[in-house]
Amino acid sequence: MKRIVAGKAFELVRGDITRERVDAIVNAANSRLIPGGGVDGAIHSAGGPEIEAECRKIGGCGTGMTCATTAGKLHARRVLHTVGPIWRGGGHGEAELLASCYRSALELARAENLRSIAFPSISTGVYAYPVDQAAAIAVATIVAFLENNAIPEAVKMVLFDAATYAAYREALAAALPA
Ligand code: ADP
Repeated sequence: MKRIVAGKAFELVRGDITRERVDAIVNAANSRLIPGGGVDGAIHSAGGPEIEAECRKIGGCGTGMTCATTAGKLHARRVLHTVGPIWRGGGHGEAELLASCYRSALELARAENLRSIAFPSISTGVYAYPVDQAAAIAVATIVAFLENNAIPEAVKMVLFDAATYAAYREALAAALPA
């Protein structure tokens, strides 16, 4: 599913983000930047030890914030590690922190002139953020950014499973009817 927002592409695809060829691959990291499971584990195992070595040097990243490293062996220039909120019922600033993940990653991409970027569904795995709510926040934040900034020019959300893909399709269709 694809939409054009202020001349820029916003696309949803189902797949494995480690196979993407883009300037920036976003990782759903933890605040210590220590390789974990899920998409984080997949990015570190496909990208090789160089990514982990840079993560160790950085030492950590706050929730809602984004830190950049090399992309190692991935077909990308940079990995942008963003730290999603752990779902604690919704009353602990989760929505604003999740929006901040997408915004800070897009701001970092713009600052580093990374023209194409791929995101996974941040916080909806082990961090248990309800996917319908997370999808609405992700879509709204990305659309707002594309409306107001020239770079990145292409944003892709790479969704791993059918239910997650369906939730994002619904959110994008609601935000930008065809
Ligand atoms: P979090 O800790 O932020 O919840 P997870 O990695 O547990 O992060 O899950 C985030 C999302 O990433 C989930 O929808 C999960 O299915 C998905 N995911 C796992 N592996 C990959 C992959 N290789 N490519 C894209 N998405 C992935």
